[in-house]
Amino acid sequence: MSTSTSNPIAAITTAPGRGGIGIVRLSGPDLTPFIQAFFSQELKPRHAHYLPFCDANGQAIDEGIALYFPGPNSYTGEDVLELQGHGGTAVLRRVLARCFELGSQFALRHAQPGEFTQRAFLNDRLDLAQAEAVADLIDASSDAAAKGAMASLSGAFSQHINALADRIIHLRMLVEATLDFPEEEIDFLEKYQAAHQLQSIDDDLQQLRLQAKQGQVMRDGLHVVLAGQPNVGKSSLLNALAGDDIAIVTDIAGTTRDRVTQLIHIEGIPIHIVDTAGLRETEDTVESIGIERSWQEIAKANVILHLLDARHPDDTSDQDIMSRLPASTPTLQVFNKCDLLQTPSQSSNDNENQLYISAQTGEGLEALRQRLLHIAGWSPHTESPWLARERHLHALERCDQHLQLAKLHAQHNDQILDLFAEELRLAHNELCEITGVFTSDDLLGEIFSSFCIGK
Ligand code: GDP
Repeated sequence: MSTSTSNPIAAITTAPGRGGIGIVRLSGPDLTPFIQAFFSQELKPRHAHYLPFCDANGQAIDEGIALYFPGPNSYTGEDVLELQGHGGTAVLRRVLARCFELGSQFALRHAQPGEFTQRAFLNDRLDLAQAEAVADLIDASSDAAAKGAMASLSGAFSQHINALADRIIHLRMLVEATLDFPEEEIDFLEKYQAAHQLQSIDDDLQQLRLQAKQGQVMRDGLHVVLAGQPNVGKSSLLNALAGDDIAIVTDIAGTTRDRVTQLIHIEGIPIHIVDTAGLRETEDTVESIGIERSWQEIAKANVILHLLDARHPDDTSDQDIMSRLPASTPTLQVFNKCDLLQTPSQSSNDNENQLYISAQTGEGLEALRQRLLHIAGWSPHTESPWLARERHLHALERCDQHLQLAKLHAQHNDQILDLFAEELRLAHNELCEITGVFTSDDLLGEIFSSFCIGK
């Protein structure tokens, strides 16, 4: 269903709170009667009109710039009106309320989160990967992520997907044409070098998967949990990595009673680090709640940094902790306070699951950062020109599985061309899911509901 015939919508599109400028945006199939009712005049398309925004009694609520973008050449593909006034909570609320008062006769309603962008998608102004990039650009927490989101928004990722899809379509066309002439089936695979074509498509797909993985790492980063006994230096390590005093550092065991989360960036990759309450047996109720939460965080982690005191590497409490850590989560044993070791030779970092560091002197921290990037799947030599999401990776993986099955049919010279054709069709569908050619309403709902209101 196209939304071009649906209700007009309105929302404050600027961030809540005080600001120099605040914007109310409206979108709908035809906003000209609304504009006439609001301003008693027509607005020239894409022209900055400096006008009062008046209430029902003709009193100015605010004065600002009204911009009218007639559809289809607008953000949403519908008529869009932007009212740019002063960025105060009350004044914007009043302008919006006035819009609803006037708009009730046109069934104007409040926009859902992401609904402007959803309309842009449904009206073919953006494909789905680009629409997702809008939210990613707004949410980007590092320069690299913002750059990658912008590349996706301008279609760099979609272009690669479409190019690959076109090659699969070409092969499908050849196969399906042959299906109409069963006597030619036997020759088909040889005649069109189907296996060769498939291999070349597969090579491109593998390259795309590598890049998409880097884009996903750049977007999502890692959730790292610091776990260990009290006083091993978890808070000190968090502070050292963050380069700031975030967690409380004391030599009194049990001072971190709850989680402290900090977002840091390593080479532009977001790393969410959670400092947890020290794991030990305790009678203290508050502390034991903290410890329970530590275990909950550990269960959700992408990576666990198990911190130990380098002076007591074989502590039995650490062995208990180790035995309780989830086996499927990558875990690094980080021996802290190596500055206090008598024999510095112990501080070798040969075992790739063990590291010697000093949160106090900074020794070993660079190696730890590089180890984290490695676990995140970041490869410094693979260019990551765009951001990607987990959803895209899964679709690319499924596409790959269908291509592999198609390859098997080709290799075995099955002469069952319809199976070959079916796998190609399914592989193609997976690519279409990324750009949103085929999407379920559930998926759209899930994607757009995570947007902010007004976007
Ligand atoms: P947490 O309870 O595990 O969070 O430990 P803290 O970060 O609060 O540190 C406990 C004590 O160990 C504090 O006195 C820190 O100054 C000290 N500490 C932490 N890391 C190091 C280190 O690498 N070397 C030395 N010498 N002391 C450290």
